[in-house]
Amino acid sequence: MTAFNAIRIDKDEAGQRATYVSMTDAELMDGDVEIAITHSTLNYKDGLAITGIGPVVRRFPMIPGVDFAGRVTASTHPCFRRGDSVVAGGCGLGEAHYGGLAQRARVSGDWLLPLPEGLSPQDAMTIGTAGVTAMFCVMALERFGLSPSRGPVVVTGAAGGVGSVAVALLARAGWRVAAVTGRPEEAAFLTSLGTAKIIDRNEFAAPGKHLQQRRFAAGVDTVGSTTLANVLSQIDYDGAVAACGNARGMDLPASVAPFILRGVSLIGVESVRPRLEMRREAWARLARELDHHALAEVREAIPFSEALARARNLVEGKARGRIVVEIG
Ligand code: NDP
Repeated sequence: MTAFNAIRIDKDEAGQRATYVSMTDAELMDGDVEIAITHSTLNYKDGLAITGIGPVVRRFPMIPGVDFAGRVTASTHPCFRRGDSVVAGGCGLGEAHYGGLAQRARVSGDWLLPLPEGLSPQDAMTIGTAGVTAMFCVMALERFGLSPSRGPVVVTGAAGGVGSVAVALLARAGWRVAAVTGRPEEAAFLTSLGTAKIIDRNEFAAPGKHLQQRRFAAGVDTVGSTTLANVLSQIDYDGAVAACGNARGMDLPASVAPFILRGVSLIGVESVRPRLEMRREAWARLARELDHHALAEVREAIPFSEALARARNLVEGKARGRIVVEIG
């Protein structure tokens, strides 16, 4: 039996708490591939799971961490062999199946992808579920038929993980990007990713008119609630918003006016289900379209020993870009 270190969330009558523990391979959950994890990352969802603020964890005990990268140490899955470098994200990791904030994992090979060509494990975790979700949003707008020639795009929660990758991807694709942020001190960071205009998030905070000035052709919203309602009210005719997040709230106090009077569409985006083909496409595009400058700009690497404290900060909206956890 191999011993390894993990963050584990336990729950009893006193409530739930996350701590560093030592575990053994025998305690891992079922799966046909075993992995030595080298890198993980902190997503907003991991912050919710670790603090217990959001009902993310569906069974206890749980190892949090919706993403990991590492090397296969044993496999009976036909697609993977010992020594392969792999990435995993979503698929219930850190929610219903032990996740990536540990030195070891055992999962279904159907949830794994080979490490995309051109990316290091650290790059892959800089991208992580947040980056895949940002790419899914871009792909959703493209499938809808929107392109930069239609006008500017707005990104909310722009200095966060999903938002910052979305800004980089959209700017690279030629969009004029308006970044909505509550942190003016991150203006230089957002500009370096390609933002053309910074907008104070207070402009979107209060309930507004059902139809407002048409400012954007498209949007990527990571925030939800009144912010998303205001974004919808400012989208031009036949535009669309890809909505993936609820950093401000789960509610949507909106009217149907943008839909029925301007033909605006709201596109839901989720990145939990495996959908390997769509993930493969997203990872390949991320490897091609996110340049190393953008990856370095959005990344902050931290040691595993700091992951618990940083996850707690994350839900307070204090994270900038993407936090990579060095595990191995
Ligand atoms: P981060 O914490 O990195 O970023 C969230 C950002 O939202 C913050 O940086 C902040 O941006 C903004 N924000 C936070 N609180 C508020 C508020 N009260 N009002 C307005 N803006 C606020 O999180 P992630 O980027 O990892 O995730 C963003 C959202 O996307 C989360 O809700 C997450 O659950 C969701 N998500 C959904 C997925 C899916 O499958 N649908 C997958 C991944 C994430 P700023 O400082 O710039 O204002």
